[in-house]
Amino acid sequence: MTYKNNNTETLLQQISIMSNVLDNIGSYVYSKDLDRNYTYVNANVEALFQTPAKDIIGKDDSHFFDLDILDGLLESDNKVINENVTLSIEEENVIKSTGKINTYQTIKTPLHNAAGNVVGLSGISTDITIQKTLEADNQNQKHLLDVVLNNVDAYIYMKDANRRYRYVNSRVAELIGLPAEEIIGKLDFEVVPPKYAEHFWTNDKTVFEQNQKVVMSETLEDSDNKVHHYLSTKVPFQLKGDLQTMIAFSTDVTELYQLKEKFEQLANTDELTGIYNRRYFFENAKREFNRAKRHQQELVVISLDVDHFKAVNDHHGHPVGDQVLVKIAQIITKTIRSEDIFARIGGEEFSILLPNITKTESLQAAERLRELLDDNAIIINDIELPIKISLGVSVIKAADTCFQDLYSRSDRALYKAKSHGRNHVYLMD
Ligand code: GH3
Ligand code: MG
Ligand code: MG
Repeated sequence: MTYKNNNTETLLQQISIMSNVLDNIGSYVYSKDLDRNYTYVNANVEALFQTPAKDIIGKDDSHFFDLDILDGLLESDNKVINENVTLSIEEENVIKSTGKINTYQTIKTPLHNAAGNVVGLSGISTDITIQKTLEADNQNQKHLLDVVLNNVDAYIYMKDANRRYRYVNSRVAELIGLPAEEIIGKLDFEVVPPKYAEHFWTNDKTVFEQNQKVVMSETLEDSDNKVHHYLSTKVPFQLKGDLQTMIAFSTDVTELYQLKEKFEQLANTDELTGIYNRRYFFENAKREFNRAKRHQQELVVISLDVDHFKAVNDHHGHPVGDQVLVKIAQIITKTIRSEDIFARIGGEEFSILLPNITKTESLQAAERLRELLDDNAIIINDIELPIKISLGVSVIKAADTCFQDLYSRSDRALYKAKSHGRNHVYLMD
């Protein structure tokens, strides 16, 4: 007897513990008999119905729920009991006082007696409204982000330190030529031709090496061999507990780049003759002068001026004079080396900068130019014009401290060539 008493006591103690656990589980827990009357409810159900358990037990849901909800409840209860199956369903109900829709994750299981017959059901419903709201918010945010990222005029992608694409927007997908879903999760060289993949990776990995935002310009040929220029901003983007990742934003700046190149070219070019202008000449001459000094290399300036050019204008008009200048520029351009810089300094005066050339060679070059014009008349509109030029040559000296020292000597040499009767070469060293 004592043993049995003890056993009952233990059992009661266990039930009390279980009931305590169920009251604090944070979900609605209940059981019903075959007539759908409650046989057990935990504290959460009591609170929901605002009724003590003793007044709930023995009653069915018609006492506690509106008819419209009741139908759904009955349907799932019947299914569990009649078909002897466990159901895991998502249910919604409206809280009458606030009109707020709550969502529950409900599991209903048939209860069996020792013979294995269904005698009722047990249910547990967990309020997942907050998770649902968060999920919906998350979906909305993701959708918004997708719309933004896919409509912004930039190539946007995420790649991890293992070269795996984590995200690509539709512009990148288009560029690669695959749907985004087939790119995301793949290594770059699995979806991009190896040549380009290496090129991308060389640039991308600088973000990981420097672990800071990197802004760079990138050049890439498209499938039609057209060169594109991109301005790219790449930033480290570390997700919690994840590999090092980066996000890149690249904008196609090809048109801007071409405009910039065109402006640069315009800024360096003499409008009439198409050769370099004074600005470009002096800018580069200073650089060449410093280099020649540093490496003790030769540097020569030939300055040349058209003889009696005023007379050409006076006799044939300014437009013909212009064409003469264009012809002279064309003739000289053909004779110079690729490393020489030939520019129109102003009016009918030109200069040539010749790096790495000896004094003798430079005198020969100047003489050749003089002869070329002396021997060949320039023909404009069927008129033969015997154009002559005078040339002043100067060679870099140890005492020269700036390019101007070298340049002004070529100018003085030119003056000497003029005073020696024009159509002359004069060297000043
Ligand atoms: P010299 O042999 O002493 O150099 O005589 P020159 O007549 O060439 O020299 P001068 O400096 O007296 O005259 C230069 C002339 O070049 C005057 C100017 O009208 C002309 N000139 C300067 N720039 C241009 C140009 O862009 N087009 C034309 N057609 N003529 C120009
Ligand atoms: Mg002149
Ligand atoms: Mg002149």
